[in-house]
This record gives sequence, structure tokens and C-alpha cells, in this order.
Amino acid sequence: MDPTHCRMCGLPKLTLPDEQAYGVCADCYQLPGFFKLPPNTRALKPCRECGGRELVRALGLERGAISGYAYAAPLAVAFRQHVRHAVFGPPIEAQPDLEEPVGWLELLICRACGLVTWHAVAPQSIPIGPEYATELLRVEDPAGPYR
Ligand SMILES: [Zn+2]
Ligand SMILES: [Zn+2]
Repeated sequence: MDPTHCRMCGLPKLTLPDEQAYGVCADCYQLPGFFKLPPNTRALKPCRECGGRELVRALGLERGAISGYAYAAPLAVAFRQHVRHAVFGPPIEAQPDLEEPVGWLELLICRACGLVTWHAVAPQSIPIGPEYATELLRVEDPAGPYR
């Protein structure tokens, strides 16, 4: 494909080398619904099964449908749950807020053998608590002060 043409809209808008390397024009990049992988911050190692050195990094997406309308959305670790109240009374139901996913998931896929490794994007920012159905566990340090 012509490197000066945007991969999404097909228009010849890519003039700078950085634009041509990325392949998507600034207009398409800003479109709502365009899922962008954040920059990789992970130290890469060869595949633990086959030693392969070529990895595909991808944002995990799910496909859904509501009333015949199909959509794709990034896979998330959790959603904040809100309670719904009776008109005059106590909370009667907990519902996940589908507008507020937290902890997007990314995949590293070995291009040789297909082994998939999952990681959460920005794991430090995943909220902890029952309203997210998450809890924080800590692995004891075997060389810690209480051993
Ligand atoms: Zn474009
Ligand atoms: Zn492999």
C-alpha cells in the first residue's frame, strides 16, 4: 500500500515520515471509536515456549450486540458497580457501569507458535474494592523480616 495514504480513510494525507510509519492520518486518529494501543512499556523477552522473537501486540477486543446493533469494545478487567434504589427505599440492585471500564487488557502473541500472554494496561491504576469486584493480594517475600 502507498505509504502516503491513510490506512483508515484511504486519503493521501501522510506527508511526514512519522505519519507514514504510523499509517493513520491525524483526522482518523481523533475519531471516536478508534481504539489506540498505548505505547509499549514492557520489556520484551523471547517466547517462553518456542523462543520466537516476533510478537504481535494487540488490544483485546470483544464483540457484542444490542438489539441488532453490533459493536466492538476493548476488554476490561472490571466495571464500577452502582446501586439502583427503589423510589423510596434501600438499594435494590447493583449494576456494572458499562461506560466506565477499568484496566484494559493487552495481548502479546508469539508469531511463531501463537502462545498468547495477557497483561493489563497500567495495572497500578486498577481500582481495588468490592464495587469493582477486585482485591489486592500480596505475595509474601520469603526473605522478609518475619521469616
Ligand atoms: Zn485517515
Ligand atoms: Zn512461541
